[in-house]
Amino acid sequence: MSGRRRARACPRTRSEEREISASPCRTCVGCRQRAAKADLLRVVAVEGVCVPDPRGRMPGRGAHLHPDPECLAQAERRKAFVRALRVPGPLDSAPLRAFLSGDGLSEVGRTGPAKRYLASRK
Ligand SMILES: [Zn+2]
Repeated sequence: MSGRRRARACPRTRSEEREISASPCRTCVGCRQRAAKADLLRVVAVEGVCVPDPRGRMPGRGAHLHPDPECLAQAERRKAFVRALRVPGPLDSAPLRAFLSGDGLSEVGRTGPAKRYLASRK
């Protein structure tokens, strides 16, 4: 397992870090497929924990993932979050898994575990 295969359609370059206003597109860190930014869940690292950021409002680097447990599993297997978020250590993705196992992403984004999780850490 190399983990080096990359979606050729969306080479990861520095331009990915800039906002491309024409057609915001990100690569899922799980399946490596390109998708509209709006279709992907933003994930940020907070104190060694992967935290879902459905509103895209949290500061810092974000990784993008399909809101799909399968993509999360792939991302975990290849430590994609550690790489994408440029953190030194392992990341706990339990909150993310909990988030994804709930249904109704938009609903969860407003009232679900992510919000509760973040509130509990303040
Ligand atoms: Zn995916």
